[in-house]
Amino acid sequence: MSDSSIVLSLPDQPREFGFFVDGSWSPIESREVFERFSPGHGVPVTRIPKCTDADLDAAVNAARKAFDDRRWSGLSGADRAAVLLKAAEGVRTRAEEIAYWETLENGKPISQARAEVGGCVGMFEYASGLARSLHGDSFNNLGDGMFGVVTREPVGVVGVITPWNFPFLILCERIPYILAAGCTIVAKPSEVTSATTLILAEILHDAGLPAGVLNVVTGSGSTIGQGLIEHEQVDMLSFTGSTAVGRRVVEASGKSNFKKLGLELGGKNPQIVFADADLEDAADGVAFGIGFNTGQCCVSGSRLIVERTVAEKFASMVAEKFRKVRVGDPLDERTQVGAITTDAQNTTIMGYIEKGRAEGATLIHGGEQLDFGHGQYIAPTLFGNVTSEMTIAREEIFGPVLTVMPFDTLEEAVAIANDTEYGLAASVWTKNIDKALVVTRRVQAGRFWINTTLSGGPELPIGGFKQSGWGREAGIYGVEEYTQVKSVHIEIGKRTPWVA
Ligand code: NAD
Repeated sequence: MSDSSIVLSLPDQPREFGFFVDGSWSPIESREVFERFSPGHGVPVTRIPKCTDADLDAAVNAARKAFDDRRWSGLSGADRAAVLLKAAEGVRTRAEEIAYWETLENGKPISQARAEVGGCVGMFEYASGLARSLHGDSFNNLGDGMFGVVTREPVGVVGVITPWNFPFLILCERIPYILAAGCTIVAKPSEVTSATTLILAEILHDAGLPAGVLNVVTGSGSTIGQGLIEHEQVDMLSFTGSTAVGRRVVEASGKSNFKKLGLELGGKNPQIVFADADLEDAADGVAFGIGFNTGQCCVSGSRLIVERTVAEKFASMVAEKFRKVRVGDPLDERTQVGAITTDAQNTTIMGYIEKGRAEGATLIHGGEQLDFGHGQYIAPTLFGNVTSEMTIAREEIFGPVLTVMPFDTLEEAVAIANDTEYGLAASVWTKNIDKALVVTRRVQAGRFWINTTLSGGPELPIGGFKQSGWGREAGIYGVEEYTQVKSVHIEIGKRTPWVA
């Protein structure tokens, strides 16, 4: 990109948002608020209401009523698709606005935010097709006296809890599919990145979504989030966030109404590089895999597992990429790596870097905060001499920190890759198709990339093996998660009497 790239300006004053229940906006006045400071600039950018328990009840009741009176689930798939297509157009039209607020609240580079919002348009378009094609099954093989039909029905009221790392993208990997299935929704975004979820509520309302079908409440996880996961009137909960909170969600379901759960949790994802890979391409991909979104990405490739014969050379190639990558102001169009989203996450990442040093790993690159005179930034960091017992090799850091571990055989590479409680994603880099396929089959992960990483789209499902979660989002699998099947037995002719 040229030096004349635009650096967007900061807002003159924080933008205020209300919350959205039953088709109406509740203003911020007379409520406590969260004031969000841009992590890239340290200035206030948004003000979001702290909803109360009564607000949450109103939102769930609105979603309950909208589901039970069939104002959405009773429509034809074609009518639901029409709303989703209009919403796609609304996201396209307001893409720049969405990307801007996403960047301000999250700290991600504006160019990346724009690309993510562009991808979200495709999510709505694709889900609109699924609204029309979703169907059940029939069994014509039960004998002359019986016909069997399986119908797919929407689960009901769905709570959607999202994290701060991809506030709009993660939302759009869920909302269009949930709506395609015919469910109604109460969404609770992360308290630090609520703006774009509220903008989406406006877009869906303008697209003709009936009142009560989507409701958005804002507030902290421990109050509004906890209330939502425990709510007796919520039939399903889609939770995306940390494994620790995921456990609470499971507990809350068991203690309340056994609501169905979709869980998208943490990851500690391997990048396996064989000596026969296109090493230049792989080094770029590996750097991207951990630098993208400052490594605050559930599918970040945070463990580099590389064939010993090229390990040293390859680590230097990755370090060279880290040296060249443009870290800085998220509002500068040239920036590739932005700010760390929260103070707490900044402290956590720096703590892991300290621990890596203390446990004997060798710092090859980075390891420090970068000072641009505003905001909080961490240099992409590379550690060598890492062993599988070290904390930095085991725990999800959720930052731009990559560990290098060498291997000698394919079996050893697979064993290291699987030596984790997580199973979210994995990548393999090799020009040998046999190796690529063997590794793909043996490594336990819900998403796999061969000679690429972090690609995605509306067609392919998202989700984890092991402690990375339950269920799948996106694709046809994503819509099916939000349905339940009913088997219908239809007698043809006369039943054989029970009592003669
Ligand atoms: P988090 O678990 O702290 O918070 C996620 C959401 O849960 C937020 O909206 C928060 O307010 C809410 N929450 C917090 N406590 C709650 C409670 N007691 N009850 C109900 N809701 C509660 O996670 P985070 O720090 O926002 O995000 C980082 C984590 O998310 C990482 O572990 C990352 O791997 C994971 N993540 C996973 C995926 C995936 O698809 N697997 C995607 C993105 C992020």
